Amino acid sequence: MAAAEKNNPSKLDGLRNILCDWEPRLLMQQFHPGEKAVFAGVYKVVHGSNHELPHYVTVLRGDTFPVCAGCGRHVIFEIAISATRLHAHAQFQHTALPTDDDPN
Ligand SMILES: [Zn+2]
Repeated sequence: MAAAEKNNPSKLDGLRNILCDWEPRLLMQQFHPGEKAVFAGVYKVVHGSNHELPHYVTVLRGDTFPVCAGCGRHVIFEIAISATRLHAHAQFQHTALPTDDDPN
């Protein structure tokens, strides 16, 4: 890692570090078609026989990972960034936008 990169990590690196501190085993975990997503977030998709370049998809908690139209069950999903649903986060539960009458 370059010195400049080390002193000024990107936002993505910061998120990876948070995930790593939170649940390191997830960084190595791969999911296959038919398995359910334990966490919502962005997953890297790696296709069998490289019939398509790796890419990223968003997945909701509880989603079942599908088979691929091109490589069937030979597709792998790796969690890249875990994310919480907006209204499930503690800071946004039971909140609403202020009205014009609200002094705040
Ligand atoms: Zn595929």
